Amino acid sequence: MGSCNRGIAQEEGFDRSFRQLAFVSDQGDVVGRFLVTEARERVGGNITSMQGDGFLWEEGPSSFQPNDSMLKAAVDAGIDKDLLFGDPKAPRFVFWDGRLRPTPSGPDVLTFDLMSLWGKLRAGLGAAGLKAKKPGYEESVEQFVRRNLGAEVFERLIEPFCSGVYAGDPSKLSMKAAFGKVWDLEEKGGSIIGGVLALLRERKANPPPPRDERLPPKPAGQTVGSFRRGLQQLPEAIAANLKDHIRVGWQLNEIEKAADGGFALLYDTPDGSRTLRARCVALTVPAYVAADLVRRECPDAAAALKALDYPPVAAVTVAYPMSAIRQDRLNQANELLGFGQLHPRSQGIVTLGTIYSSSLFTGRAPPGWQELLCYIGGATNRGIVSQSHEAIVAQVDKDLRQMLLRPDAPPPKTIGVRVWPKAIPQFNVAHLDTVQAAKDELTEAGWGGLLLGGNYVAGVALGKCVEYAYTFAGEVATHLRTRAASAGPAPASAGADEFFV
Ligand SMILES: Cc1cc2nc3c(=O)[nH]c(=O)nc-3n(C[C@H](O)[C@H](O)[C@H](O)COP(=O)(O)OP(=O)(O)OC[C@H]3O[C@@H](n4cnc5c(N)ncnc54)[C@H](O)[C@@H]3O)c2cc1C
Repeated sequence: MGSCNRGIAQEEGFDRSFRQLAFVSDQGDVVGRFLVTEARERVGGNITSMQGDGFLWEEGPSSFQPNDSMLKAAVDAGIDKDLLFGDPKAPRFVFWDGRLRPTPSGPDVLTFDLMSLWGKLRAGLGAAGLKAKKPGYEESVEQFVRRNLGAEVFERLIEPFCSGVYAGDPSKLSMKAAFGKVWDLEEKGGSIIGGVLALLRERKANPPPPRDERLPPKPAGQTVGSFRRGLQQLPEAIAANLKDHIRVGWQLNEIEKAADGGFALLYDTPDGSRTLRARCVALTVPAYVAADLVRRECPDAAAALKALDYPPVAAVTVAYPMSAIRQDRLNQANELLGFGQLHPRSQGIVTLGTIYSSSLFTGRAPPGWQELLCYIGGATNRGIVSQSHEAIVAQVDKDLRQMLLRPDAPPPKTIGVRVWPKAIPQFNVAHLDTVQAAKDELTEAGWGGLLLGGNYVAGVALGKCVEYAYTFAGEVATHLRTRAASAGPAPASAGADEFFV
């Protein structure tokens, strides 16, 4: 602990400055002394918005579902005026049997041609409760959907959707962990429709608290959101508001337990090695990094965290002149309409899905150009990491020619290619138990002040991560309050604070 005491002495200056700001949890607890640290030179993690040559594109996530937590984050960060939403009436397509077919969006639920009449009937009867009983084991997404809604819903809607959200394999993904809200419907009401009715009754009996009146109106229908200058605007605005509470280029290399119950954190920083002390650490690094950080003193927690699978994904942005798009995909104003398209693995297309970026949000491409963001790789195509960028773009272009482009379309203009070797944690069967086991192991080892967060805990969608961040802030505040109450007066050496990594 000698080194960590030296670390505190070195940090006296910033220790004073970061007392000026505070975060307040949903329960009203005020945490005034905290620091956010990030290994890269920029904030945002895998949110990566880029600009150049008249294009604006995303190399990580493309958009978010605008739940109230996302809207609150935008308001809190002062950038709600820059929110953008996609047209909720824009269709989403699935490539099936040689054609792009719209997914059902409400009134067309009986007429849409992605499924047969029998497939729709099977889904309706299953949703109403005419289906096999649920088994006594944790079901995969494939098992749950085939049992409840039939083969067609699984093969034509849910399987491509799993590619779109998780880049995952639905025979391995856990229904309970990956799509908990739908899984819960059967638990609550015996069937999906029974669960919806039970949920409505529950909501009527316990109405949610009034909506935060600072929030913009909920966008109508099913849509997605972003910001005028791309998703990166959100983490950058949050970082600007955090002022002296944030350090970039600080890589956490080791965590040690201190005698007073806190932690010593050993960093590589642009100014050399630094050691800081903290009473509570909110660790939001990927699970495999967290595993390395706790391995020495909590090997069982490390083994659980290391077991989580992160397959690779490449985000490929290409652009074509509008004249390259097939006539039947364009409206009268010569625009490609829609959110984008998903490709079931059975249909012979390698690309997982394509977002019509410049149709979805304004300001993404110069006039006359269509910008497309294609995701390729995932749990069923891990070889993507060893391919050249040229080969990946060639594959994406080949796929697009089968579905969206005219035969004489020119080669694509490559806007950006980013391969994420460990992209998205898979919420496979046993995921929830594995994460809980890691948390339990930490507590048992006396590491209860190290709280695990990040997308493998919260859920992978950005909206889920942000929703969880507000809950997580409450967990930190509660931990500090309980610890302060049980510890009595703070130890003399406590210059320690709360750290988010
Ligand atoms: C290609 C791709 C496409 C996606 N598309 C969508 C989408 O369209 N919509 C959607 O809602 N979600 C999407 N997601 C998921 C979503 O983007 C992520 O789940 C979310 O951004 C993860 O946030 P996070 O903070 O948990 O993790 P990350 O963004 O991975 O952040 C972890 C941070 O920890 C830092 N770090 C690592 N090690 C250390 C260390 N030793 N010391 C200090 N810092 C460290 C890293 O530098 C990083 O900044 C996509 C994800 C990917 C990869």
